[in-house]
Amino acid sequence: MGEQLKIACGVFGAVNFQKQPIFPYIYWGLRAQNHRGHQSHGFLTYNNGKFHAHRKLDLVPKLKTNAIQEWFGRLPGYIGIGNVRYTTSGKTDEKSLIKGTQPVTASKNGLKLAVSFNGNVVNTIQLKKEINKEFADFSYECDADLICHKLLIELTKDNNLASAVKTCMREIEGAFSVAGITRGGEFFSFKDPYGIRPLCAGHSKDHSTYAFSSETVGLNINELERDFEIEPGELVTVSKDGFKREKLVNSRKRAFCAFEFAYFARPDSRFDEKYVYEIREEFGRNLVRENPDIVKDADVILSLPETGDDSALGVHEESGLKWERASRRHRYVTERAFILLNRERYSTIDKKINILAPKIKGKRVIVTDDSIVRGDTTKVTIEKLCKMGARKVYLFITFPRIIGPCFYGIDMATYSQLIGSKHIPEEITKIIGADAVRYQSIEGFIEATGFSRDQLCLACLTGKYPTPLAQKIAGEMKERFLKGYEETGRLYEIAETVEKA
Ligand code: SF4
Repeated sequence: MGEQLKIACGVFGAVNFQKQPIFPYIYWGLRAQNHRGHQSHGFLTYNNGKFHAHRKLDLVPKLKTNAIQEWFGRLPGYIGIGNVRYTTSGKTDEKSLIKGTQPVTASKNGLKLAVSFNGNVVNTIQLKKEINKEFADFSYECDADLICHKLLIELTKDNNLASAVKTCMREIEGAFSVAGITRGGEFFSFKDPYGIRPLCAGHSKDHSTYAFSSETVGLNINELERDFEIEPGELVTVSKDGFKREKLVNSRKRAFCAFEFAYFARPDSRFDEKYVYEIREEFGRNLVRENPDIVKDADVILSLPETGDDSALGVHEESGLKWERASRRHRYVTERAFILLNRERYSTIDKKINILAPKIKGKRVIVTDDSIVRGDTTKVTIEKLCKMGARKVYLFITFPRIIGPCFYGIDMATYSQLIGSKHIPEEITKIIGADAVRYQSIEGFIEATGFSRDQLCLACLTGKYPTPLAQKIAGEMKERFLKGYEETGRLYEIAETVEKA
């Protein structure tokens, strides 16, 4: 069922040292990661000191074979970066979305830079002020603009990429996983000192191609082997000899986004040693171990495709309960409600999945799902199951209760939009009309990931934010929320209000 959240972006970049056109790699790297951003896509290649870009709204398109030569002509070169985006910062009208499509570029004093970015910047106000001093015509459309311009400002000081990136790591607060190209053809990537969003590196068997990708699926589709996940505070550059890794900033802690495991990442992607699907199966097993009373009172397990499928297998294996494939996806209704604007959400929510009434009629069902954010989608689904004759509906939720907003690239901007910030599970059960809602424990969740608690960002679950300004803003927002102030939209606007106050 999924709760239709938005993630900021998917990043892919590659270089081919046999000077083969890089466009096909970028194209497929983004196609494999379109789940990370549906609103817009962009390709940028580098050829003889020039950048060539193609940016458009919507999904990465299918290409006709006979148009390939035209694409090669439009995007020449053997180095390239690309991005798929869903805005979690900046304006959301169509004109702004087009302007905010990545990769972005900036130029100054003969230097030029192109950047593809995933994440969210927290100290936007301070950075905008600084950039405005250097670029009179600076127009902010998305956080990638901040990263690109700030990096360029630092580069103009001594034209040293490592020291420029190091200053960015020290002075930009937030989540940023970046792939970029300089005008001189230097291909690089780096991550914030907490390593909040994913970004991995890989190469082709013959070592002619090297790439960076948000998820390993971007490497797989290009038949590239995964080498490593970029470390927090690390800069990676690429030459014919391979990757050069430099740890520029010592991180206080790693804070990899826990929500990647539960919802965003594709199940066939891998972070560190484990595949996401393995972790989700373990989530299901944990939920069975943690809730024997529910398992005892259930007849079947039901997962609504596709985010609950892996955990449903875990529930089935651990409990022995039958896993019914009681729902089918309408094959050519491809929209996920989270890609839609609010006003469109309700009209499509019900259209993607068909539930088979005979499979659930008169049965007590456990439904596995990844998360409950607002609760509206979940409520609709439960109503539907009851209408189809389910006798009882129990919900197993793999991501523990979300109690606070995210400042690092996920579209959970306010306390008021989160059902879990206002209600305990018993109340949520009543609101959404289930017979019980059981969340996986935070401890069980952490253990299943294979990471330790101090390697994960759990801020939306615990209220403990890894970066100081985010912690401060969250505290002030919570105070206002508890006093009953209306929360007005997106997190960067709220952050501006708070900073100005
Ligand atoms: S606050 Fe939650 S969603 Fe945001 S980065 Fe941290 S774990 Fe991920």
